[in-house]
Amino acid sequence: MSEYIQKLNDAQREAVVNFRCPSLIVAGAGSGKTRVLTCRIAYMLEQGVAPDTILALTFTNKAAAEMRERIGQLLSPQATRRIWMGTFHSLFSRILRAEADKLGYPSSYTIYDASDARNLVKQIIREMNLSDETYKPGDIAARISLAKNNLITPGAYEANASLQAEDRERRRPQFVDIYKLYVQKCRQNGAMDFDDLLLNTNILFKDFPDVLARYQAQFRYILVDEYQDTNFAQYVIIRRLAEQHSNVCVVGDDAQSIYSFRGAKIENILRFRNDFPDARIFKLEQNYRSTQTIVDAANSIIEKNTKQIRKRSFSTAEQGEKIKVIKAYTDKEEAILIAGDIASTVREKDLSYSEIAILYRTNAQSRSLEESLRGRNIPYKIYGGVSFYQRKEIKDLLAYVRLVVNPKDDEAFRRVINTPARGIGDVTVNRIAAAAAERNLSLWEAVSTLSSDDMEMKGAAGKKVTAFAGMIGELSGMRATAEAYELGLEIAVRSGIIGTYKMQQTPEAVSALENIEELINSVRAYTDEQKRIAAESGDDAQARVTLDEWLQNVALLTDMDNEKPEERNKVTMMTVHGAKGLEFEYVYVAGLEENLFPSMMSLGNEEGLEEERRLFYVALTRAKRGAVLSFAESRFKWGEMTFCRPSRFLGEIDPKFLDIQFDADDLSAPEGGNDAPVRTAYGGRGGYRKQEAGRKDYTGNARTYYSGREQSRGERSSERPAQGGFRHAAAPVREM
Ligand code: ATP
Ligand code: MG
Repeated sequence: MSEYIQKLNDAQREAVVNFRCPSLIVAGAGSGKTRVLTCRIAYMLEQGVAPDTILALTFTNKAAAEMRERIGQLLSPQATRRIWMGTFHSLFSRILRAEADKLGYPSSYTIYDASDARNLVKQIIREMNLSDETYKPGDIAARISLAKNNLITPGAYEANASLQAEDRERRRPQFVDIYKLYVQKCRQNGAMDFDDLLLNTNILFKDFPDVLARYQAQFRYILVDEYQDTNFAQYVIIRRLAEQHSNVCVVGDDAQSIYSFRGAKIENILRFRNDFPDARIFKLEQNYRSTQTIVDAANSIIEKNTKQIRKRSFSTAEQGEKIKVIKAYTDKEEAILIAGDIASTVREKDLSYSEIAILYRTNAQSRSLEESLRGRNIPYKIYGGVSFYQRKEIKDLLAYVRLVVNPKDDEAFRRVINTPARGIGDVTVNRIAAAAAERNLSLWEAVSTLSSDDMEMKGAAGKKVTAFAGMIGELSGMRATAEAYELGLEIAVRSGIIGTYKMQQTPEAVSALENIEELINSVRAYTDEQKRIAAESGDDAQARVTLDEWLQNVALLTDMDNEKPEERNKVTMMTVHGAKGLEFEYVYVAGLEENLFPSMMSLGNEEGLEEERRLFYVALTRAKRGAVLSFAESRFKWGEMTFCRPSRFLGEIDPKFLDIQFDADDLSAPEGGNDAPVRTAYGGRGGYRKQEAGRKDYTGNARTYYSGREQSRGERSSERPAQGGFRHAAAPVREM
């Protein structure tokens, strides 16, 4: 028996070697669920299962990369090459690319991220002359997203009387018209948003039974990590694909279900046994990650939830340190105390910074923490926040690439036609749009085929537009022969983006140029990697990597991807949502206050509160050796000082697990149950506001930016998105 199998406990081993039947593994944090999946795949390969018959779905790209690497270490890197391993979105976007023609999309379809989607919604609301107060673009986009994740197309939506009534009640009866137009425009633009990747996969499988049969036959083994956070659209995809072989293995933990606001359903776990009646159920009870104190404290919290699958979870590790609770007067002081504690922990325990994480409920909390870490020269990296792919220069360049690859992409066209400024104003763009609409052309098709007269343009404007069209046409013509990175560089130069920043000489321009350079480098790196993979697997179809291919890949990247080794020895800062599945020696959870964690939105409804509690459970169970929980008595929110009460969650942990160095009465549960505590604007002690007003806003170069876009998608966004109208509103989100 291979060594890695021997190292498993009995229950884990059973779950690994019995890979020929549908399996359900529901177990607590740190019990080795992900490890079981990894070993199961390795074992299957050893038993002669062909790698390309395995479909392994993870929650993040990073998780997929780690799993692949781990299996590579157990067997050989080559062995893992052909496994279909990745997120729902990345794998099904690949399938959609191959089958795009059936759905009437180009195979080089564009993928819209959340901000693209919101911009399109905004534009539609404007075109329809609706008020963006009544029809808030963010809310509308969230509701469209939720509808799609529940497989409700505009047609189905319109036919649904209760949804219509709900919209009338909310005084936005035209929602469905916006939804319709949105879908129509995406299609015209040859674009899919993140939710479309799932919705269209479902449409493909439903409307083309032969295509479904082909993939059913191929994927004999389907494995899903973090199953508790799959939404309905994902669930249906899995169920359809598994119809033929019924060979699904899912692992998850109902206590860690933290995405219900975007449509994830714990019911998917409960339904599994009905869908696959001969499924075997494996129980993993031993926690290998954390000390007894952490496991027991986490259990004592989650017990407060009424909706949960009862399960045992114990640790045989040492008892370990108590959980330290830090109280501060202000959020600023909280940050300073945390930084101080990190510095001494690292020194005393001889840790590296990478073994430490600071988790928070909302991204807004990161700023004061950053400031204090910088004050102590502690290196850190932030995941989330303004991410690399959301920066203007990167969005601009990517829009050029999108337009070159997919000339129907009107959103990209609008973004770049006058960026950098080339004297083509709104009036001209509106004329182009009118002429295009009349003839049913995309904007680029219009400028490249119509005459100036057709578009009612005068000489000067006409010339500028023709020059622009000519440039895009030439770049597009290079796609067939040029290497991706050559073409990428060509686009950056010919578009004038590089030249414009070079002339500016400001620090912002220098940083923009660095970012552009990094993007071009990443094309190069991607090309090299793909070629290496092709060479290793004796596949010479990959002699050239096209820009189309790279673009699809890049649209799905997140903050966690492309981590550079020199950036590794840093404290990790991220939202609790972002930390799912990860582990660190020491974990700091900041801002444990009523109205923040649990969040204000969750108070007053039991379901929301239980989800916050699960989120807290996730936070605490990331810690291997130690956890530190902190709260402040006052905090700046929306520019105002507010008083805060300690989070009820602090009071819910059995005090015997806590190390409290202040009057513990402060932690008693807030009176009045779920009533939102008073949120007092600071009026009294004048010092605070003054002191806080002097803060600098550190953004831009000082941060470590990652090639990521998590925040853009809201996927990692810690804040509950605006309620879009369904019971749980969805952010237009997806981790790729
Ligand atoms: P989460 O619910 O947080 O995703 P999980 O159930 O997926 O947790 P893993 O991440 O797979 O848990 O495992 C937690 C830690 O325990 C990892 O460091 C893993 O390597 C270790 N571990 C799991 N099983 C064993 C084992 N049998 N022997 C030693 N270490 C183990
Ligand atoms: Mg896991």
